[in-house]
Amino acid sequence: MGVGLTTGQLERLFTGSVWAEGPVWVLSSQTVRWSDIPNDRILEFDPATGKTGEYAVGVQFTNGRTLDADGSVVQCSHGRRRVERDRQGTVTGLVDSFQGRRLNSPNDVVIARDSSIWFTDPPYGILPGTKEGPEGEQEYGGCYVFRFEPASGTLTPVITDLVYPNGLAFAPEESVLYVADTAGPGRGVPLRIAAYDVRDGACDSRGPVLELEEGHAADGLRVDVQGRIWTSAGPAVRVYSPSFELLGAVAVPERVSNLCFGGPDGQELYITATTSLYRIRTTTRDAAASNHQATNN
Ligand code: MG
Repeated sequence: MGVGLTTGQLERLFTGSVWAEGPVWVLSSQTVRWSDIPNDRILEFDPATGKTGEYAVGVQFTNGRTLDADGSVVQCSHGRRRVERDRQGTVTGLVDSFQGRRLNSPNDVVIARDSSIWFTDPPYGILPGTKEGPEGEQEYGGCYVFRFEPASGTLTPVITDLVYPNGLAFAPEESVLYVADTAGPGRGVPLRIAAYDVRDGACDSRGPVLELEEGHAADGLRVDVQGRIWTSAGPAVRVYSPSFELLGAVAVPERVSNLCFGGPDGQELYITATTSLYRIRTTTRDAAASNHQATNN
């Protein structure tokens, strides 16, 4: 790891999932919640006890999730082909269609300070032979990044030029949106993270693109308060500057899907990697979480 980014050692906290993804730090319970997608369950780790339990089962293949300003969890469901809200265990749908056609299988989600919900919609949860949801058709004919306004119910495509958009995160002032594209060379594009300039709720131009080597897909990513990008990259977490200079890496014994900041001071990095949940202490915090906490204050 680069100088000053992390302290201490990588710890394995839980093992026993098939494919772990979609972690979020839940402020109200001080726990980490994540998806074990093929086992169709949601797990939760309590750092106070060191124990992991099943938060919910038979959940229609949830994937990425984020915390809303009111403390509820907004998450993606492959099986329901929607983005939904979990408020203390009561789950309600937010959006499941675009122009009358079903979404593919929403994968990852972030919430902007104006309460709009931005999510990616690749087809991983409906592809033939997938174990991450029931097979299905791609009904609207693309794989977009969408912006959804809960108050009005308006759904707007904001990015349509990526192949399989996956993880996403805003830069600290929400002037830039970073989106991972995990389609890769098999679909005619490099594994990559693309940066888009954001203005007035839209992505108005594509900026720099980071290309990643084969086997090092950036699935999920987060941005810290200094604007650095913390991303999964195959069997590692990598940290990049806003201009995609590599600043450091944490080797992980398994393929990493996603990560989130959490813990009492927000400086623990929780990492979902194939069968396991890992943690390493850092010297920074999530830009988005700090925005939400600022909103609450
Ligand atoms: Mg993902």
